[in-house]
Amino acid sequence: MRIGIIGAGVAGLTTAKTLLQAGHEVLVVDRTPDVGGVWSATRRYPGVTTQSAKATYGFSDFPMPRDYPEWPTGAQVQAWLVAYAEKFGVDRHLRLNTEVLRAAGDNAGGWTLELRDTRDGVNSTETVDRLLVANGVFCEPAVPQFAGLDEFTAAGGQLLAGTEVQDAGQARGRHVVVVGYGKSACDVTVELSATAASTHVIARQLLWKVPRKIGGVVNFKFLLLTRLGEALFRYAHLRGMEKFLHGPGNGLRRRMLNSLGTASVRQFKLEQLDLVPRGRMEDIVKGAIGLASEGFFEGVEAGRIVVHRDMTISRLLAEDGVPYAELADGTRVRADLVVCATGFTQGVPFLDRGVQDRLFDERSNFMLYRQILPLGVPGLYFNGYNSSFFSPLNAEMAAVWIAAHMVGAAPVPAPDVMRRVVVDQLAFMDEATHRHHCRGTKIIPFSMHNVDEVLDDLDLNISKRVRASHWLNVIDPAAYRGVTPALVRRLGPGRMPDADRAAREPV
Ligand SMILES: Cc1cc2nc3c(=O)[nH]c(=O)nc-3n(C[C@H](O)[C@H](O)[C@H](O)COP(=O)(O)OP(=O)(O)OC[C@H]3O[C@@H](n4cnc5c(N)ncnc54)[C@H](O)[C@@H]3O)c2cc1C
Repeated sequence: MRIGIIGAGVAGLTTAKTLLQAGHEVLVVDRTPDVGGVWSATRRYPGVTTQSAKATYGFSDFPMPRDYPEWPTGAQVQAWLVAYAEKFGVDRHLRLNTEVLRAAGDNAGGWTLELRDTRDGVNSTETVDRLLVANGVFCEPAVPQFAGLDEFTAAGGQLLAGTEVQDAGQARGRHVVVVGYGKSACDVTVELSATAASTHVIARQLLWKVPRKIGGVVNFKFLLLTRLGEALFRYAHLRGMEKFLHGPGNGLRRRMLNSLGTASVRQFKLEQLDLVPRGRMEDIVKGAIGLASEGFFEGVEAGRIVVHRDMTISRLLAEDGVPYAELADGTRVRADLVVCATGFTQGVPFLDRGVQDRLFDERSNFMLYRQILPLGVPGLYFNGYNSSFFSPLNAEMAAVWIAAHMVGAAPVPAPDVMRRVVVDQLAFMDEATHRHHCRGTKIIPFSMHNVDEVLDDLDLNISKRVRASHWLNVIDPAAYRGVTPALVRRLGPGRMPDADRAAREPV
């Protein structure tokens, strides 16, 4: 089959590679001039690095280069994705600088894509046998609508999304206000504060920040990027050791989690800085865990960065021709540049209303079985709608499931059972994350449960022994390198030989 893929980020690239290995044709379309999505030169802000440690942000058959630092920069991640596309021949199937304006299904699984070249505006169409949406759930920035914006910009004020800040020099000598307190907000704050005249952070809600090295010594990956780390959070169905941790071992479990909070308070002197978040680490971490940005709390201590906690901007304005932001408590802050690192919106504007109606529940959550398969839309798949602590691994294993499902080799239950599973999963995630699941597209902190479910469906999970070793050792995507070759062997003729070869090469 010829599969159309919207998006050349982690999810689109790994699905293209897997489908090529399974013997299909692919057409990967991306509106940017480069591959990488989140890590594209068009989107990465100064100072961006992965949150995940290098060893965990990788594909089973393509880890990051050994000489990369523990937390690679955006440019390094993008270069690694370019190399991935080249190694597996995905680069020969890319159509960059091309936006998908509309995708219309024919009810038999086929799709017609209306495309526009972003350089010359020329439109074209393509038909494909199946469609994969990998357009990224952190792709479209959500920027609040501020009252007074016109007056503010007329006075020379500038409002940008975090992803639009490409160069720390944009802040030189200017008064900067950053809205948000997530990882991107704090990263960008550190970079801009180096040259800005002043830097204020407006944080509606403080979040717990995990130190990269707890106590300055232990890499956080040993605590959170293991199966034990994941099991500290109660999943919908408890198995094995999880039953102990959420039963007789509950006290131990809570102490382990909350000790992370204690370490964070001590290490970053949060009490002195009045930056201790409200609520327990255990509750907050569910919806939004963030790594502390290097230099952020140091900047607050040194007075370079001022955090306004539990605060919002009520309006933008100009006073005597000078741009300001007015806060909810009436404080006015000089603001030549306001940067909103306030999250992203998830949407599929290129799909017809009729299809969208089938995609969403009444609260506009994506209804996707296994985070992949919409209910009642033939020939349509999603990948990357399983954003996790190990996004490349989750996307790669979802790609395996997709390759199997496309040829009828992924057993799925009856439609009403699938619907029940999806509804139950969304209800569970509502409760487990206080609804911080980005309309059903973020599975944190249950990354490996999703990998297990997807692979158990196919009877392709890795051995229990290796999974057990990931309880205390950091999860290693390379442990999954036999999965795609096993599927490809099962599917038989038409497969590409490099699937087996890649699995044999040393990692
Ligand atoms: C700052 C930041 C740091 C992160 N750090 C981590 C981390 O450490 N660990 C982790 O596991 N995850 C991390 N993530 C999550 C990250 O989203 C995933 O790791 C992964 O990169 C997402 O890949 P994707 O392919 O799903 O989406 P994206 O990378 O967003 O790619 C989607 C692509 O689709 C294209 N596209 C969208 N619409 C259209 C259209 N209509 N036509 C054509 N092309 C279109 C976009 O141009 C884009 O290139 C981070 C995210 C951000 C924003």
